[in-house]
Amino acid sequence: MWGMIATWRMAVEGLTEGANTLEKGGSAEEAIVKAISEVEDFPYYKSVGYGGLPNEEMEVELDAAYMNGTTLDFGAVGAVKDFKNPIKIARRLSVEKANNFLVGVGAEKFAHKEGFERKTMLTDRAKIHYKNRVHKLNQQENELTPYSGHDTVGMVALDQQGLMTAGTSTSGLFMKKPGRVGDSPVIGSGLYVDSEIGGATATGLGEDLMKGMVSYEIVSFMREGFSPQEACEKAVAKLDQKLKERRGKAGDLSVVAMDKKGNYGVASNIEGFSFAVVTETKAPKVYIVDKIKEGKCHYEKATQEWLENYMATRTAPLEEEWKK
Ligand code: ASP
Repeated sequence: MWGMIATWRMAVEGLTEGANTLEKGGSAEEAIVKAISEVEDFPYYKSVGYGGLPNEEMEVELDAAYMNGTTLDFGAVGAVKDFKNPIKIARRLSVEKANNFLVGVGAEKFAHKEGFERKTMLTDRAKIHYKNRVHKLNQQENELTPYSGHDTVGMVALDQQGLMTAGTSTSGLFMKKPGRVGDSPVIGSGLYVDSEIGGATATGLGEDLMKGMVSYEIVSFMREGFSPQEACEKAVAKLDQKLKERRGKAGDLSVVAMDKKGNYGVASNIEGFSFAVVTETKAPKVYIVDKIKEGKCHYEKATQEWLENYMATRTAPLEEEWKK
């Protein structure tokens, strides 16, 4: 059995590429790096890689991580600027004996020395988003809620040899403070994988996801014998409830998981989370998830209309409101 699961609709093209690798007997490492790089390279996804939305100083700072579920090697970068594929730097760091998680200038120096491709990651379109937001803030039309234009691509892959890997990549929260690092590169929170059990990855408000170390929690539930679906539901319900009890509210929490047999699961405490999955027996498809209710999460295949609308809105011309 082989398979791959990923957060959000934006992952499906990459996931399909990754599936080609897995189908031919390629490794889960190659598949996940290929799949995430593809999402990073697509300019219209405004929360990952090239075209990602900038921080409050109009700089794109990227977080990414990679984990090997057999050796438990991991590599991660935080707040890295102007490198084309942060996931490749994370994967490279994962084979170091130490210094596996580098941030900012240190990460950039490492990437430069290792010959990773540099690229200006701020696009004209992202600049318009930024300027529009600043304009709105100046007009006090809406208060600063950094949590829009977010979303992390997170993936878990299983290959025919039984190797499982996980990876994440994101530009984090739009208008974040320079140097802010979210959950996505944090092992145990943004992602975790153990080839003897399974893997999980998260997306949503990093500051809240980290409070529950949600990916490790899901893998622990699977170790106890819960199915990936049950494990995801339990982890999201538990953290959502705890945050509400202790803090009065919970940020967005969405997760996906796959076990070592290719069974998968998903849960979310928001309406409209989407994910993509492919296995040896199931073609790559996108699903839309309902908000968790009484501990259960229901999901359905995305309709053709939804899929078309998704691409149309992502690529529609952007109005330069700030010029008006
Ligand atoms: N979890 C990411 C962060 O906080 C953002 C997201 O997945 O939406 O950086």
